Order: sequence, then structure tokens, then C-alpha cells
Amino acid sequence: MTTTVSRIPSYLSAEQLGPWETFLVQVERVAPHLPADLQPLIPILTRPTRALIVNVPVRLDNGEMAHFEGYRVQHNLARGPGKGGIRYHPDVTLPEVMALSAWMTVKNAVVNVPFGGAKGGVRVDPRQLSTAELERLTRRYTSEIHILLGQDKDIPAPDINTNEQVMAWLMDTYSMNEGRTSMGVVTGKPVSLGGSLGRRDATGRGVFVSTAEAARRLGLDIAGARVAIQGFGNVGEAAARLFSDAGARIVAVQDSSGTIANPAGLDVRALKTWSTAHQGVAGAPFGEQIDGDSFWSTDAEILVAAAMENQIHPATARRIRARILTEGANGPTSPEADLILQDRGITVIPDVLANAGGVTVSYFEWVQDISAFFWSEDEINARLERIMKEAFSAVWETATAKGISLRTAAFVLGCDRVLRAHKVRGLYP
Ligand code: NAD
Repeated sequence: MTTTVSRIPSYLSAEQLGPWETFLVQVERVAPHLPADLQPLIPILTRPTRALIVNVPVRLDNGEMAHFEGYRVQHNLARGPGKGGIRYHPDVTLPEVMALSAWMTVKNAVVNVPFGGAKGGVRVDPRQLSTAELERLTRRYTSEIHILLGQDKDIPAPDINTNEQVMAWLMDTYSMNEGRTSMGVVTGKPVSLGGSLGRRDATGRGVFVSTAEAARRLGLDIAGARVAIQGFGNVGEAAARLFSDAGARIVAVQDSSGTIANPAGLDVRALKTWSTAHQGVAGAPFGEQIDGDSFWSTDAEILVAAAMENQIHPATARRIRARILTEGANGPTSPEADLILQDRGITVIPDVLANAGGVTVSYFEWVQDISAFFWSEDEINARLERIMKEAFSAVWETATAKGISLRTAAFVLGCDRVLRAHKVRGLYP
């Protein structure tokens, strides 16, 4: 029998660790803090329950055929059906999707919603496709992963480069193949199709609420605080708007097109209008265009990473001036950078807590769909805020009591819930 956790290839340097290795390091770091009766179960976390690789052939508008590779990974289903987004990006790989699905396992347990962890993706640059091609890609991908899907099996949601329209196509394709309308098979749908009010801003709102909770405990006033945000999409833009509405100054925004800074504060709504019209913040006439690297040393109290994984490496971590780093994105900080930030006394609000607002409102959407009874936006935002605050308090108290980082504390809470579910379910056969 083995209870070895380490499955990280020793030939990889710290800089070469990909997202899956990052997750394995995080499991290694939490292992000593888990109770003795759960120790033999820890290796369960180090492999996905199942992973599906699919070929996605698409007829292009010019009549030619293109082939894309897609994935759906169910990391763990002990606490409920798989739940996690679908990403369209040219850099999507199987290990990346494995890591993203694993973080969903931990995240769903941290906020205590009754889901396991899953994630999907297609290696594609959606900007190269027409709307009709994107629809055909989505419908073929959905059909290929259909065997895994279902409102009580696996429930996708949006992620990078996927949106309400993509979720509507997914829901329609699944429903056509099943011969019935199934709203609960996917979340992040348009409100007209069983989507939830408040879902669009939910992840950004969770980022804001968790940062405000940390700021309060650190004696930092959000009103007047300076905030720098990487990523100006679903998560980053909503977070920027909510910080700004609470009186914070958004002093820098970086997206894949460029970086804009203004120490006096950026007008978030005007920047959003610009970025929608120009596919990014580059060239926006509301501040100074700075180089991408300078972004990390922006003079700000709060830094929000809301773009991609693997953005903060040791060299970057040494330059960050903020007191709080909030991980709106999944896996933005490398394990080594994490330790540097900890040593430097920077409070890192980990992804599995900070960006859990999205899956929390996805859970509300799923509950509303299967009960066919819909709630008001105020009700949804109030419930979201309550869950985020409770999860934040539990993580903070665990970190304080055990003298560990917020990330390891979140993993303690999440992994304990997942492994305890395994323990009481027992080992089959
Ligand atoms: P999105 O596609 O709406 O936006 C992504 C943003 O990041 C864009 O502004 C893009 O330009 C920017 N970006 C991409 N690569 C970049 C780079 N190398 N440097 C700087 N900026 C870059 O995606 P999203 O839904 O906002 O997701 C962002 C992150 O949040 C992802 O890690 C995702 O997994 C995570 N997340 C999203 C949700 C959600 O509900 N959408 C929930 C939880 C976590």
C-alpha cells in the first residue's frame, strides 16, 4: 500500500512546473495538516477520476475541415456531480484541464456546494472562427463529451473565451440529443434560458467580497485603496467595477492587448466601452500605456490576478508592492512564488476561495433550474455574499489557528470535506 503524494517529475525545475504540478505541490503542502484517518486517502486527489480526450472536426465556412482537440476531465465526484467551466484557448492542454478540474474539486468543497470538480476545454483560438464555425465547434464538442454530461452527472459553465451564447448552444445540443429540454445540464446560460440573475458578475463579486473581508481584518480601508487588475474579462471587469463603486481607485489594468495605468484612477465603465469596441484596453485614452512587466510593481494596496494561470513567478513575486494579492484567476501563482509572497507578508487570497463566487451562483442557477423556481437578483447577491463571508472566515480562522497560509488553510478545509466524503462512502467494491 502506498500513501505517497509526490507524483511530480524530479527533472522539472520550479520554472517549468505546469498547472498540474502546481496542484500536486499544493496537495503535498496540505498533507501534513490533514488528520491521520484521512492520510491513506490523499493519493485519490493526485489523479483525476476520469479524463476524456476528443477530436472535434469542424466544417469551416470555406468548405474545408479543421480538427481541434478537446477535453473533459472529472477530477473528483465524491461530493456530487462534476462542475466546472469550459475554456477555448490555443494553449489548452490535458494537464492544464486536469489542474483546473482539481481546483474545482477543492473550491466546491471550500464553499461547501454539493459538487465534485470537473473542467473542459478545446485547444482553439476562437478569434479565428466565425460565429457559425464557433457554433459548430461547440455543438460537436458537446456531442463528443455527451456521455459524461447531465444535470446529476457533470454540469459545465463558462470559462476563458466562452460565454452565455456558447452555454446556450451546449444546452441546446445536449437537449436535442436527449430528446428533452434540460436546463440544469449547464450554468452561465442566458437568463431567458434558465440562467441566473447575478451570474455574470458573480465571480468578480466574490473577488470583491473576499478582498474586502481580508482588507477589514488587515485594517485597510477599501474606500481610497489603490487596485491593480490583470485581466479585464468576465472576472476582472466586474471586480474592477465593484471596487470602483466601493470608492477604490483602479490604478492599472492589464489585458492581453496591453497595460494602462492612471494613478488618479481609471473610469472602469469607460474603459469597458473602449475595450469592447477595440478588443482590449490597449490604446485607451484614459491613462498612460505602460509595458507589461511594469504592471507587477504598480504602487497599489491590492493586486487582482484575473487573467490566466502561471503569471506570478519568483521574480515577479519579489517586485509586487501590494499588501493583498487576490487570485481571481485559477492558478496564477507558482508554488515558489507563493512562498516568497508569504515570506514578504503579502496576504494571498487563493483562487479556490477568491473566485468561488462564480461556482456559488452556478449552484444557485442549477438549484433554480431543477426546481423551476427563480429568485430575485437581490436574493442571489445576498446569499452569495453570505457564503463568501462564511467561507472566508472559516479559511482565515484555520490559517490563524494552524499558522499556515490562506491557501493551505483553504486546502485543509476543502480536502478534508472531499476525503471525508470518500471515507464515509467507503471503497468500492
Ligand atoms: P475572459 O476570457 O472573460 O477574460 C480573460 C482576460 O484575461 C481578458 O481580459 C484577456 O485579455 C486577459 N488575458 C489573457 N491572457 C493574458 C495575459 N497573458 N496577460 C494579461 N492578460 C491576459 O475570462 P474570465 O472568465 O474572466 O476568466 C479569467 C480567469 O478567471 C481564468 O483563470 C478563469 O479560469 C478564472 N475564473 C473564471 C470564472 C468565471 O466565472 N468566468 C470563475 C472562476 C475562475
